[in-house]
Order: sequence, then structure tokens, then C-alpha cells
Amino acid sequence: MAACWCAELPHGPMPEQTAGCLCPVCLCQDLGAHIDLVGKSADELRALMAAFGEPAYRGTQLYKSIYAGRRFDFAAMSDLPAPLRERLAAAARIALPEVSRRYVSADGSVRYLLSLAGAKGDSAPARVETVFMPSEGRQTICISTQAGCAVDCKFCLTAQLGLIRNLTAGEIVGQVLLALEDQRDRLVPRTNIVLMGQGEPLLNFEPVMAAVRLMLDDNGMAIAPRHVTLSTSGIVPGIERLSREKIRPKLAISLNASSDEQRDAIMPINRKYPLKTLLDACREYTLGNREYITFEYVLLGGFNDAPEDARRVVRLLSGLRAKVNLIPWNPGAPVKGAARESDLPFRAPDPARIDEFRRTLMDKGQLAMVRYSRGQDIAAACGQLALIESPASFSAPVSISPTSLAPPPA
Ligand code: SAH
Ligand code: SF4
Repeated sequence: MAACWCAELPHGPMPEQTAGCLCPVCLCQDLGAHIDLVGKSADELRALMAAFGEPAYRGTQLYKSIYAGRRFDFAAMSDLPAPLRERLAAAARIALPEVSRRYVSADGSVRYLLSLAGAKGDSAPARVETVFMPSEGRQTICISTQAGCAVDCKFCLTAQLGLIRNLTAGEIVGQVLLALEDQRDRLVPRTNIVLMGQGEPLLNFEPVMAAVRLMLDDNGMAIAPRHVTLSTSGIVPGIERLSREKIRPKLAISLNASSDEQRDAIMPINRKYPLKTLLDACREYTLGNREYITFEYVLLGGFNDAPEDARRVVRLLSGLRAKVNLIPWNPGAPVKGAARESDLPFRAPDPARIDEFRRTLMDKGQLAMVRYSRGQDIAAACGQLALIESPASFSAPVSISPTSLAPPPA
């Protein structure tokens, strides 16, 4: 058991800024379980240092070391005095998610199957996925915000897991830190993050935003806000809340249908927040000067890929500063015993239909791009994240485009 460092401190009333799990008393009770620093904000780390009896700026140094320097070993934090590093090593840890499997695609992308230990009390162990996608001039990291998902979209394999649990801020930002650390030899300076892995980010608002702030903070990971994209199935109260946030990622909406009838059939969330309500919330969403909302549209062959659908999409989006990303539906991998997306009553769209759909949008003045998913051979593509473990038995679709789902350069 670690030495009780907080016994050195007076156990008087707790200073306000140390409320919550960082207070000396809670930490004292927690002894033996090292406090995890991944996911903690600069204020929380400053409060921790105050609780250690150190000047608050030590917390800022710790913060910069973890998120900007990506140093995960206290011994490597040479700007901190050696005795403090030792005390930190005894009481705290910087724990990244544990990689239980790593799958490498023929296109260079990597899918991580992660085991999350879970925190004492309220969060059970869980498994999620993160995908690293290298491309010309940047890497894109696709992260999960929940284990599984409750939204139950009919074309998505993740839905078949159901909701297992919300992830903590540390588990969310930890996925980015882990992928960057694991791939450090092939990194280029620009990193894009897409919150498009398992889960519905706006149904786990607080932890997602706490993690996003660490990514966007200049003293933290310093990723430009236009390089972080949050994708939602259309949780209207979450969109309204995001609109009021000062620091926030780019917004992407999974539209996926051109009428309520169609959307009801594939996204049950549409019954709660139908198209008019959703698009009104998008119209109310405050956009910066050069900002726009991305609308993702999964093309389901024979279901929503007709030219009339494209014309209806144009009408739906009129008056919005919008870009459309067309995502040809990814059938799942036929893995024995695993949930199979190929059992779903959809088919991939014909290439000619994809072209025609895009042309119809563009001819009517609606900017649209086709985004082919990466990592199809390793079950890493959009909608395939369902903890699949046997890539050897995958039938790998060919003709993978070099474009990723990452947003285009601003
Ligand atoms: N839950 C969020 C983010 C994760 S899903 C959301 O739904 O937006 C990320 C994107 O993958 C969404 O746009 C979703 O519509 C798309 N998607 C899901 N299943 C897919 C599949 N099988 N093929 C292609 N795209 C899929
Ligand atoms: Fe959840 Fe998104 Fe999949 Fe829908 S598409 S089930 S919201 S992960």
C-alpha cells in the first residue's frame, strides 16, 4: 500500500477548489488505489497540487506534461522536483486504456480493441474500439464515447451491442493519447479527431465535453477546433446545449434519410426528434464565420439512394450552411458467431447511384462529398465497431479509397 501522503496535510475544512474526488480526505480513503490523472483538467491538477502542499503552478506543469508533452511517467517530468515526482508516483498514475487486440488494415489503418478497467464504484470494466487512420498530411483518430450504444439505428452494428456504459472523460481522451503514443513513429504534425466510434456522444455530454476541452486547449493537446468533429444521431437537447458552449468541436449530424417516414424506419430516435425539430435546432445553432454543419448520409442501396431522395435532402437543408458527406453503407464482416450486419435488410449502394446522388446535390448547389470508410478488412469502418475479434475470417471488400471519413482540410 502506498504511503499516506495526505497525512502530512491538515485535515481541516476542504478548500472549495478541491471539492470532489481530489480532496485530501477522499484521497486518503482511496489509498492503495492510485488516483488516475488522465482526464483531469488543469484546475483539478492545480487543486491536487495544492492538496499536496505544493504551489498551484506545479499542477499546470503536470497538465502540460500529460497532454502537451504526452509524458506518462512521472520520472520523465524533469521540470518537477524529484521528491514531488516520487510522491506522485506513490499516490497517482497516468493510465492509458489497455490494448487487448490490435488489428492492422491493408490500407494502413489500425483498430484497437481496448479494455477499460472501470472506476471504483460506478463503472464496470468495458471494451471499446479506437481507429487510427493515417493519410497524406494528417492522421485521423476515431474514438468511442460510450461502450455500445442505446440509439438502435437499424444499419449500424454497434447498435447490436446495446448500451453497456458511458465512458469517463479520461477514457475518452485516453483513447487519443494511446493511439498517438502507439503510433508515435509514424505521426505527422496534424491530428484530426472524430467522435464517431461506438456510442452517441450527446448522450454522454459532460464527460465528452470535458475530454474535448482537453483536446482543444492550447496548453493541453492544442488541436484546432476545426479538426475535432462530434457526430450525433440528432439528440436535439444536446445540440442546443453544444450551441451554447464557448469551446466546442465541429458538429456533424447523421441525417441518413430524406423523409420522416424513412428516418423513422432506420433511426428510432427520429420519433423523439423528427426532422423538423432536428433541422430547426440546426438552424438555431450558432455558427462562427467560416463554420458549417456536416450532414452525414449513409447510402443504403435501394432504400434512400434515389435521385428523389437527393432532391428532398436539398430541400431539407435549404437555408443551412451545410456540407453533405455521403457514406456508402458498409456491410458488416461475416464472422461466425458474431452479430452480422450482412444479415440486415440493406445492401451497399451501386457506384452509379452514389455518383448520381452526389451530382444531384451538387447541381442544386449543395456541397457534397463521398466518404469511403477506412479499415473495412479489419471491421474498423463506420458502423462496424462491435468488438469483432476474428479478422482472419473477414471477407475483405476491395477498392478502398484513400480518403478517410475525416473532414476535408478547412
Ligand atoms: N453515434 C454517432 C456517432 C457514431 S456513428 C452518430 O450516429 O452520428 C458514426 C457515423 O457512422 C454515423 O454517421 C452513422 O450514420 C454512420 N454509420 C453507422 N453504421 C454505418 C454503416 N454500416 N455504414 C456506413 N456508415 C455507418
Ligand atoms: Fe449509435 Fe451512431 Fe450506431 Fe446509431 S449510428 S446506433 S447513434 S453508434
